[in-house]
Amino acid sequence: MIAQPQASHFVNGAYVEDTAGAVIEVIYPATGAVIARLHEATPAVIEAALAGAAAAQAAWAAKRPVERARILRCAADLIRERNPDLARLETLDTGKPIQETLVADWPSGADALEYFAGLAPTLGGETIPLGRDFVYTIREALGVCVGIGAWNYPSQIACWKSAPALALGNAMVFKPSEVTPLGALKLAEIFIEAGLPAGLFNVVQGRGAVGASLVTDRRVAKVSLTGSVPTGQKVYAAAAAGVRHVTMELGGKSPILVFDDASVEDAVGAAMLGNFYSAGQVCSNGTRVFVQKGIKAKFLKRLAERTAAIVLGDPLDAATQMGPLVSVAQMVKVLGYIETAKAEGATLICGGGRDPAGECFVQPTVFADVTDTMTIAREEVFGPVMAVLDFDTEAEVVARANATEFGLAAGVFTADLTRAHRVIGALQAGTCWINAYNLTPVEAPFGGVKSSGVGRENGHAAVEHYSQIKSVYVGMGPVDAPY
Ligand code: NAD
Repeated sequence: MIAQPQASHFVNGAYVEDTAGAVIEVIYPATGAVIARLHEATPAVIEAALAGAAAAQAAWAAKRPVERARILRCAADLIRERNPDLARLETLDTGKPIQETLVADWPSGADALEYFAGLAPTLGGETIPLGRDFVYTIREALGVCVGIGAWNYPSQIACWKSAPALALGNAMVFKPSEVTPLGALKLAEIFIEAGLPAGLFNVVQGRGAVGASLVTDRRVAKVSLTGSVPTGQKVYAAAAAGVRHVTMELGGKSPILVFDDASVEDAVGAAMLGNFYSAGQVCSNGTRVFVQKGIKAKFLKRLAERTAAIVLGDPLDAATQMGPLVSVAQMVKVLGYIETAKAEGATLICGGGRDPAGECFVQPTVFADVTDTMTIAREEVFGPVMAVLDFDTEAEVVARANATEFGLAAGVFTADLTRAHRVIGALQAGTCWINAYNLTPVEAPFGGVKSSGVGRENGHAAVEHYSQIKSVYVGMGPVDAPY
């Protein structure tokens, strides 16, 4: 089971190796097998990537948007053609079940390439009449953008950042998470095959220090990070020193509000999707499930029944619904949160420990009677652990849902149309759902408020984060100077 890429980095259109960089072992978390050995980027590799990106960007930006779009659409087609192989690699890299990686990871990446390829050629500027004179605006690329990824959706993240960046005429240097470094290399290969000129999408591997050295380079115009809040704070501060553009897609502790009149079956299904998909390693997960007291017993009964039926096992088996966590370190962290929840008095409904299916497996776990001050109600667990909290009134639950530093996502389940919109209006979150959860089509802007981030990925909103406006005043008559 070897998924050894040709080399660690992809720079200026080709694989590059520099064995002077510290070793990164890529581990398949279902078995603990080492599936690849890469090296961190040395300063020489980082320099080549940034110089290559800077050299290639101007000619790319000067192309007609339809020419750029044609290449991105071709990349999307290649991804779809190769999806079975790419999904298998994603499963080895992350441990996520093939049932998920076949439909969610690369396919949503292809969607992003297709979407921004379609959108970019439609963008024009505006003309602002001023009587005799006028102003027109030009939307220009930012230049060299740095993308830094998290490990939970490595290939989707690489696509979601590179698609708008490239469509709008930028170049990108992408650093995947050191935990899941393989998918981005495949994307770089695919781009070249699709006709992208060398240097426009480079992949350099490494831990935080490699990311940090990219963020402060003078040639970099923009940094887009997907990661935790503490990393986001560091990267945002470093980018601010050079007055660089940023997009920060950070963590969450998102609420799902289930009112008495909701469909129990739908609310349970959504809460499970929003806590157990990808073994709970999803930033927008609804990890605080507030259930109105009148529906609590029915909700917990169905939740326990359906959770007990989740199939854990070999991620490459099509029947498996939940795989391992991404690493031993993540498993240990999540098990720690489970023990803390028990010690703090939450009621364990199901799960509650390791699962014997393999190396890094944790049982899907549900705690009821969770209170706002308990650790699992306040901190991001990033594992298959659902916290169910009770509530009485709408005003109370909205206030409690908002009482967090995070603001990534929120969901409401109710049959009352006006309540649904009123509550969504009052929730402090960037990405919301009514009677649905965790659907993130590329057409919809995605991102957080408060500590969960700044900027938006996807949708028309992403255009603003990968381009800037030049405003041109045109004088049509004599200059009226008072001297
Ligand atoms: P992390 O913050 O540990 O690392 C994210 C990336 O930043 C990695 O590539 C890492 O190497 C790099 N990095 C670390 N220190 C750095 C520094 N000082 N300068 C530059 N780069 C640095 O996050 P993780 O553990 O990989 O991912 C899990 C986190 O990501 C969770 O908090 C999750 O909520 C969040 N996440 C958010 C979204 C979103 O879209 N909002 C999506 C997925 C994951």
